[in-house]
Amino acid sequence: MNTSRPFLPLRLWAFARAIFFLLLFVSAALAARVERLIDKWQPQHYLVNITLNDQLSEITASARIYIRILKPTRVIDLDFGELTVDRVMLDSKPVEFTHKDGKLVVALTEDAKPGDSISLTVDYHGKPKDGLILTKDKDGNPSAVGDNWPNRVHHWIPTLDHPSAKATITFNITAPAGKEVVANGRLDHVETTAIGYRTWTFSEGVPIPPYCMIIAVGQFAKVEPGERAVTPLSYYVALSEGDLVLKGFSPGAPVLDFFTRTVAPYPYEKLALIVGATRFGGMENSSAIVFTSNLFNRAPSPIGMSTRFGVPVNNVSLIAHEIAHQWFGDSVTESTWSDLWLSEGFATYFAALFVQRYEGEDAFRMSMNDAALAVFAYEKKKPVPIFDRDTENLMELLNANNYQKGSWVLHMLRSQLGDDAFFRGIKSYYESHKNSTASTEELRAALEKASGRNLRSFFARWVYDSGHPQYELAYYWLGRRELRLVLSQRQAGNAFVDPVPVTISTASGKREIVLKPAGKLLIERVPLRVRPIGVEVDPRNVLLDETTVKSN
Ligand SMILES: [Zn+2]
Repeated sequence: MNTSRPFLPLRLWAFARAIFFLLLFVSAALAARVERLIDKWQPQHYLVNITLNDQLSEITASARIYIRILKPTRVIDLDFGELTVDRVMLDSKPVEFTHKDGKLVVALTEDAKPGDSISLTVDYHGKPKDGLILTKDKDGNPSAVGDNWPNRVHHWIPTLDHPSAKATITFNITAPAGKEVVANGRLDHVETTAIGYRTWTFSEGVPIPPYCMIIAVGQFAKVEPGERAVTPLSYYVALSEGDLVLKGFSPGAPVLDFFTRTVAPYPYEKLALIVGATRFGGMENSSAIVFTSNLFNRAPSPIGMSTRFGVPVNNVSLIAHEIAHQWFGDSVTESTWSDLWLSEGFATYFAALFVQRYEGEDAFRMSMNDAALAVFAYEKKKPVPIFDRDTENLMELLNANNYQKGSWVLHMLRSQLGDDAFFRGIKSYYESHKNSTASTEELRAALEKASGRNLRSFFARWVYDSGHPQYELAYYWLGRRELRLVLSQRQAGNAFVDPVPVTISTASGKREIVLKPAGKLLIERVPLRVRPIGVEVDPRNVLLDETTVKSN
């Protein structure tokens, strides 16, 4: 087939071209990931009663979901996995439902109108395929631990399984007596409910994302640190690690204190640090964080051991990362998966800030340097923006863009706006969106308000576009007291217009200037008394850049 242009009359060609671009646009729109967003109804509160059997190998449960109707609807389409549904009730009357392919579609008896409040109760039982991990702890004792990121809670609780669908939750967990139980929020009471069983009631009073809803049941040693913390703090570990836990989690209380001072008061009723079943290094469930079961046996990274806490610095950083999520991710939740860096980039950077404060400037520089290398390596594999609307597999969003590059974006904003405006902006962003959701644009607005600066082009280049600046600086000593600097940007794609600090060294000292590129090529003349002995780009490492320097 030949589609070459001259065979079509001009107007027909224009029409064909319009259709072609329309198709391109439509296929680009179709390529974007479809997210399970809130549409016709929104969960407000979950009341979840779960009974575990003796071996912690099965559950019998009843979840009541309090729902607010947003648009007229005759059905409520819950996300729900493979457990057997025994009955669904609307308020207290049984109703019809279908349950297949991860959806529990409940027929309402009449049309629901915007503003209506209804409650559905789902009775179900079985062994969850995912989400609530029923496994043995490292001592071989049975345990049941929630691990839901990114959208796996619906394998054990019927939900609207998207981070933006935040709700409060109460758990009544009935478990064999002798098991330790913890969940989100405050422990209201524990009662002996049947011979050999106790029921634990935990309530989370502020809305949390579904992926942060958790129970943990097992043969835990529960340990409380002696030092005071800004919130009730307790540790849950396998019995055999009971004597490692105080030192292992010793960064916890100082981290809580640091973020309380840097951001805002801690958002939840308590904090439990748990070592148990998670597929991640750590999982930031609101007020009940789970760390990987080898946490206390991990080898130190090249940064080494923390002299202050006596544990590897990478553990200090991991503990700080998960606790930082309590503010960023849990309390201020990304409104879409494209905004994930508001969770992971923030947790990564705020952990680095804790490292900077407690482990020193060198450890901080090393961690930012490692982050930069991770970004460069990832970019070679997948040159896409941080704000990623296309990647379908949500696990693939756990990448160097959302973590390390997101962290670098914050570091660059801090450097360019100054500590005062940056932290004021972050605090006001947090205050406006706590216990709710936020978008990248809302972060931009908060930082613009705090700094009085227009950050549209910064966000456009760093968050909504891909790549990083690859500077090449050539300098020429022209005699006659003049140095010529030629800064070119070698990366593919658009120019970066961030100010570029440059240090010029001469025999008589150092001089700092700032280059302000407006495009990919900048030529600057610098008056200089003597021939330079060296020129350095970005000496304090405030840019996520790669640079080569040449001289004549
Ligand atoms: Zn994280």
